[in-house]
Amino acid sequence: SDKIPLKRGLPIPQGISEKAFLSAIDELRTAIGAENVELNDKEVNNGWYMEHPNTHDMMPLFDVEEFIASAVVYPGSVQEVQIIVRWANKHLIPIFPISIGRNLGYGGSAPRVRGSVTIDLGRRMNKILDINAEDYTCLVEPGVTFYALYEELQKRGLGDKMWIDTPDLGGGSVLGNTLDRGVGYTPYGDHWAVHSGLEVVLPKGEVVRTGMGGLEGSNTWQCFPYGFGPYSDGIFSQSNYGIVTKMGMALMPNPGGFESFMYTFQNESDLAPLMEIIRPLRIANILENVAQLRHGLQTLSIQGFPRAKYFKGKGQMPESIYREELKKTKTGDHAWVYYGMSYGPANIRKFKLDIVDAEFHKIPGCRKIDSKTLPAGEYFWSRDRIASGTPDLEELRWVNWMPNGGHIAFSPVSPIRGIDAERLFALAKQRHAEAGIDLMPAFCVGLREMHIIVEIVFDAQDADMKQKAEKCLRDMIDDAARLGYGEYRTHLALMDQVAGTYNWNDGALMKFNNTLKDALDPRGILAPGRCGIWPARYRQRGWEL
Ligand code: FAD
Repeated sequence: SDKIPLKRGLPIPQGISEKAFLSAIDELRTAIGAENVELNDKEVNNGWYMEHPNTHDMMPLFDVEEFIASAVVYPGSVQEVQIIVRWANKHLIPIFPISIGRNLGYGGSAPRVRGSVTIDLGRRMNKILDINAEDYTCLVEPGVTFYALYEELQKRGLGDKMWIDTPDLGGGSVLGNTLDRGVGYTPYGDHWAVHSGLEVVLPKGEVVRTGMGGLEGSNTWQCFPYGFGPYSDGIFSQSNYGIVTKMGMALMPNPGGFESFMYTFQNESDLAPLMEIIRPLRIANILENVAQLRHGLQTLSIQGFPRAKYFKGKGQMPESIYREELKKTKTGDHAWVYYGMSYGPANIRKFKLDIVDAEFHKIPGCRKIDSKTLPAGEYFWSRDRIASGTPDLEELRWVNWMPNGGHIAFSPVSPIRGIDAERLFALAKQRHAEAGIDLMPAFCVGLREMHIIVEIVFDAQDADMKQKAEKCLRDMIDDAARLGYGEYRTHLALMDQVAGTYNWNDGALMKFNNTLKDALDPRGILAPGRCGIWPARYRQRGWEL
């Protein structure tokens, strides 16, 4: 934990005087309780994952005071969220909702516009409102973490009956992660696809329920996502059109057994033929979860040691060094490692695993690692927990690769084809080499697409390295767009650029987004700039990055 006094003082949002801002804050204190409004006028405290800040990005790519809140408010009810929204409209103060604020790699808890008032929904609105053990559904408030939902199922004796799906880190918000279209690693890993029903406070203060929730006295809000008429949920994910106060989610029935497996492949050039093998298996559901094909250097970094333990030079760590280091690990030397899980009773698993084994062994040099040889602390067991719905924190280990480790992801989506994997890998390789940054990509295979996640780990105190990281990211986004690939999600700093790549038909999609924004949020108060969507009073006035 390192507390640094603010260099630029209280970050007052643009367009309002300090006096008017402080008087508006007093009004808010009176409305929802002084103890629920905190001014951010003293210091930045980066904390760490478990005690993360809610005022800024603890892994900042720019100066830490660039994306920073002027104050944080803690509503305790939907009515208080409405009060805050109406207050923001009255004073033209930008507000930025977070559920937990652990959106690390994508901006953490930071707002896009400096001086926004952050609405930290998670602190007081953190109830599991329902767990339905017949329908296998739940209804949660923003502050419910993957850990909290998991523990509640155990407490109620339902842990053996039903599973949650968790991303690599369990400390995030079920609702916040889903709204950012995050992913986990059971067959229910596409969180957005398995949610059902939202309650949303709109930017002018009205409350709506989507899907079946639109029907007074509805009994199927968490069972049928669509309801009647336009399906409106989509506009509330990766956007700035509303503040979500409740969300329904499906829970997965215990499949009756599970078994993790791990294969290694020797050559970087195995990537393309392997993808051709993975695609039909994944689409046919023989490979059943969002499986990961990880680069060998990531196998080394996940051991949790700083890179300096292996290599003290500048620039990229040479391949010869990390391959040599890998030889000393339990999994041995490899270019790629595949982590997967098979679900169901033993006989059903065997049927699928035999097919996988025969197919993977078509790649010369392929090795199946016998899990019985792996000790309890081995990373494999973290993947095992996550793919069977048990929250974990081991994934944080690779952030130690650099001192003051920060990270940002380049995450384009592509078809599951050898040629696409090769193209994306080649462009990342070239741009990383130019920037002198270690490349550790992971291919996360969805159902008919894959996300390639390239995490750039940087030293947050090293301005030169951060500049190189930013250039590398921006170059990769542009290179990928030229080849027809777009990001599935991005960091606050890159949202304008990524949104700009979705430019078919003279930017028709952004024009549509802007039309919605202006209709729903005419005073432009809610999360201006999020996902590249700017309200009219900010648009093309120098805010875009
Ligand atoms: P929040 O920060 O609360 O929300 C995310 C964003 O959604 C907010 O910034 C806000 O813009 C919007 N939002 C949140 N709540 C609301 C609301 N109520 N109304 C309107 N808008 C809202 N992510 C994955 O998906 N899968 C992974 O496997 C994964 N692995 C990771 C591994 C590591 C080592 C690290 C550091 C990060 C990883 N992440 C992963 C990224 C991140 O940690 C998770 O996605 C995390 O769940 C997001 O933070 P959160 O849940 O606290 O969401």
